[in-house]
Amino acid sequence: MVAIIMKKEDIITLPNGHLRQKSEKIRNVTDGTRQLVADMTAAALDWEDSRPHEISAALAAVQIDRLERVVIVRSDFDSKESREFTVLVNPEIVKYEGKLEADYEGCLSVKDVYGKVPRYTKIRVKALDAEGNAIRFKASGFLARVIQHEIDHTNGIVFVDHIRETTDAFYTLDSKGELQPLNYDEHVKENSILWD
Ligand SMILES: [Zn+2]
Repeated sequence: MVAIIMKKEDIITLPNGHLRQKSEKIRNVTDGTRQLVADMTAAALDWEDSRPHEISAALAAVQIDRLERVVIVRSDFDSKESREFTVLVNPEIVKYEGKLEADYEGCLSVKDVYGKVPRYTKIRVKALDAEGNAIRFKASGFLARVIQHEIDHTNGIVFVDHIRETTDAFYTLDSKGELQPLNYDEHVKENSILWD
């Protein structure tokens, strides 16, 4: 058997239309599911190792072109040293709580574009873990934002879709890793990569 190690090049990016398709529910969590998780983790970490200013906070299976409802979320967002992820299979938001708050987001599947996206500050989530056990938990703050972003991926929604009409919500990273506003009319409005 030949082991194929997933690389950052295996991460699909816009305008790939698969990013706007709905993923399928996992019927049974199997070794195949866990291999998918291993592939996602390898691709996310390979991407991170190529980026000096960014961390791979999370990844959805569709981003390595597998239309299955599997998401991995970094266990510690503040440390590049901790390379562990939490696995969520068939994740669903059962309740939105708190308030809508706009903050910065980026995506491994959207090159060089960041956005200020409104998200709920608190959510309740249900999912299966990597062994297929049912789990329920509450999330708030950045974790809640990340999970909303990833569940969107399983539904074929990319973060830019939430802010398509918001003229002052788009940013890019400069060479120092600082976010700079993008001119909407010039770089966003008719950007064929973002909107196909
Ligand atoms: Zn994303």
